[in-house]
Amino acid sequence: LFRSCARILLFIATRMKPSASTANGQEVPSSVVTKLTVLGATGSIGLNTLEIVRQFPHKFKIEALSCRSSIERLVEQIKEFQPRLVCVDNSEQARELRETFRDRNSGTETEFVWGVEGLIQISSDPEVDLVVAGIVGAAGLQPTFSAVQAGKTVAVANKEPLVMAGELFVQTANKTGAKLLPTDSEHNAIFQVLHGEPPERIARLILTASGGPFRDLPLKEFEKITLAEALSHPNWEMGQKISIDSATMMNKGLEIIEAHWLFNTPVENIDVLMQRESIIHSMVEFIDGSFLAQMGLPDMRVPIAYCLGWPERLPLKIPRLDPLSMSALHFEKIDPQRYPCLPLAIKVAKQGGAAPAVLNGANETVVTAFLGEEIRFVEIAETIAAVIKDFEKALHQVDVPSFLRKIRTLEDAEHADKWGR
Ligand code: NDP
Ligand code: MG
Repeated sequence: LFRSCARILLFIATRMKPSASTANGQEVPSSVVTKLTVLGATGSIGLNTLEIVRQFPHKFKIEALSCRSSIERLVEQIKEFQPRLVCVDNSEQARELRETFRDRNSGTETEFVWGVEGLIQISSDPEVDLVVAGIVGAAGLQPTFSAVQAGKTVAVANKEPLVMAGELFVQTANKTGAKLLPTDSEHNAIFQVLHGEPPERIARLILTASGGPFRDLPLKEFEKITLAEALSHPNWEMGQKISIDSATMMNKGLEIIEAHWLFNTPVENIDVLMQRESIIHSMVEFIDGSFLAQMGLPDMRVPIAYCLGWPERLPLKIPRLDPLSMSALHFEKIDPQRYPCLPLAIKVAKQGGAAPAVLNGANETVVTAFLGEEIRFVEIAETIAAVIKDFEKALHQVDVPSFLRKIRTLEDAEHADKWGR
């Protein structure tokens, strides 16, 4: 009898599918379909996410999509993925889409919602397992935070909310069991490298930077930089705001703050190196002197897929890195004269409190102005530096508003960001 029981148990064990632990620690079979909300579905992160979902239709189901103004693209996505919920910017767009899909008689039963309330609804919907935070800028703050409050797994590409209110995000995730999965390529590289190692084993995080389009431009020519030149990133294809942030290297500054919160590492232990090939996506130096790096072609589908599939890896169909094709990997120090936004952001990161939110508001405003060709490229850093000076002055005044001292609530973060704007 004993031998028969043992044989039956062995049979069951070998037939059982491997199980994976979810963000909240529960064991689930790996064949379970993950239900997704994609915030910012029509942007660069959103499109890459949907491309992965297309490759793995049995693993993922799109529950909800959002966009602000790219309605034509969104209509195509609704037809293809048949989401249950769609969020647009305003009630007029929602009404028109309702009409469109009623007229089409497509059989799709989609509910159309709008505005911040709509974004919060699709981020915290009880059916949704994983939220891809792919909105650009502070506009992602409330929806991403509501996903964290609802205890979701969140693939965090949208770094600005973490810059504005990182402490609140981490504290709330600890309370609700939400999992913040680092999706930004550098942070995803570190996430892969750390693989659960505790923060006390980290000596240093090294974020790599491509250097953007102006890494070799003579400094005297910076006055004449055009919008088109600033938008043409040498290694990555991304949305407009992050492309400008990469050209100024404010992006790397925001990423230091992002890494500080995601990996519970002091700002002083986070360095930046230029890696012009964008093959090494970041490195960790451990306390025993080991360096571990994550490598690959610059393709955002890799970090996004890592988060979608986590804790498993997906057999992704993408062009692969051929190590034989690499003649060399270069590492260079960052020149603060070429990238004045980086030292500025590092100073702000060390100040902490409301300073990062102020920085974010100022940066978004000047980048929008540059995209509208209202200011010159060099004025981006100049203007933000002036705002930070004003902020430091304001801190010394007796009637300084409390939100400029410390971010205690989401509203504080929004006020500080607005002050920067
Ligand atoms: P995009 O500009 O390409 O896309 C932004 C998305 O957000 C679009 O779907 C857009 O809708 C939507 N959106 C924009 N503004 C609002 C708003 N006010 N309210 C609601 N939705 C809005 O940006 P990216 O995909 O490049 O970047 C998204 C985030 O991910 C950023 O925070 C960026 O820093 C980060 N990131 C991006 C990387 C990349 O490779 N692109 C890499 C690492 C991080 P619509 O299309 O209708 O305007
Ligand atoms: Mg990045």
